[in-house]
Amino acid sequence: MKRVSIFGATGSIGQNTIDLIMRAPDDYKVVALSGGANIAQLAKDAIALDAEVAVTAYESRFEDLQSALQGTSVVAAAGASAIAEAAARPVDLVMSAIVGAAGLEPGLVALQQGATLALANKESLVTAGALVLRTAKANQARLLPVDSEHSAVFQALIGEDISAVERIAITASGGAFRDWNLNDMANATPEQAATHPNWDMGQRITIDSASMFNKALEVIETKEFFGVDPNQIEVLVHPESLVHALVGFNDGALMAHIGPADMRHAIGYALHYPDRKTLPVERLDLARIGQLNFRAPDPARYPALRLAWDVMEIGGMAGCIFNAAKEKALDAFIAKRIGFLEMATVVENTLTKLSGDSGLILAEMTLDTVKHTDQLARRIADETIQKREG
Ligand code: NDP
Ligand code: MG
Repeated sequence: MKRVSIFGATGSIGQNTIDLIMRAPDDYKVVALSGGANIAQLAKDAIALDAEVAVTAYESRFEDLQSALQGTSVVAAAGASAIAEAAARPVDLVMSAIVGAAGLEPGLVALQQGATLALANKESLVTAGALVLRTAKANQARLLPVDSEHSAVFQALIGEDISAVERIAITASGGAFRDWNLNDMANATPEQAATHPNWDMGQRITIDSASMFNKALEVIETKEFFGVDPNQIEVLVHPESLVHALVGFNDGALMAHIGPADMRHAIGYALHYPDRKTLPVERLDLARIGQLNFRAPDPARYPALRLAWDVMEIGGMAGCIFNAAKEKALDAFIAKRIGFLEMATVVENTLTKLSGDSGLILAEMTLDTVKHTDQLARRIADETIQKREG
């Protein structure tokens, strides 16, 4: 029986993880679940899975959670530090499915106890790749990708030598505005951006898919996870979202991973690793699908992609700054304070302002220095947003 904790349990990845666990209740013991504002869902799942502890990220919601858990054996807790404490409870595997940089600390704590970290929270590797990898290594803890593209690359690399890899291509659906022109994109609303053509995901990653900030984060995640050079990474627009990634080897072979656009594949792969077990996902009928299309992304419509390569070139804390500014810009777009295309401007301005500070960029990466840089980048991004509002 695997002992498992799920952080971000009430979100899209968290709920898909719980779906798989509930189908095989004898295989898992759920230890800790965390959520945010969705107290009802958190309490319901914690009770159904007989978790030891349920934690909401918000201290102000502690009493709500406590009363929802009354009369059960599930302990209620609240706040970011309570999530980190819950991550220290001994388990075999932690599903890291909080959205945003808030997912970093519980992931680090999980690695410190030697647990396998199933990483949906790509922001961890973008914000603090060196720190995450160092912590995993020091504690002989395993990192497993849950992002579909990275799970695909990971699977294509089984039995292969990374030194034989020439290139890694990750695919992008193109998101909600794949076929929109720049003018229409400039006027796009958060509601329009939050509709994904193929994947059913949380609101924030869906909007990030429309801007390709999600793909930009994933490019950096690819570099960190697989240790390849930035010039070995490619992004391909693939409207069908069935080929998740391709690995090109030095003999010219391309290994593609094909599967349905259902996150339960990558989640299930990580949950069962190193085994493969039957998963409740659609079996593709390629003869019926008939065609798979690929094209290069248009750099003018997706400035986020260029910024990803800038970030990798700057290195150090640039990923932390990039992610923090992106989170702020996304908040401002959702609040209708800035336009869709202005998100990239806010991120680029923040990066430009801070990347000249070599003391900041090259500081030793610890949780404290990362938090400091994250806060600073959020402040600078806020200033840019306020200026743009006039
Ligand atoms: P959701 O928005 O659906 O869920 C996010 C989860 O995090 C919820 O449980 C939410 O709680 C919780 N949460 C939100 N803010 C905080 C915070 N400040 N502190 C602690 N917990 C918080 O996101 P997704 O499931 O879509 O994505 C989760 C992660 O997985 C992201 O990093 C995303 O990039 C990545 N990912 C997602 C994919 C997908 O298919 N959805 C695919 C690949 C990667 P509540 O809802 O209760 O407020
Ligand atoms: Mg992905």
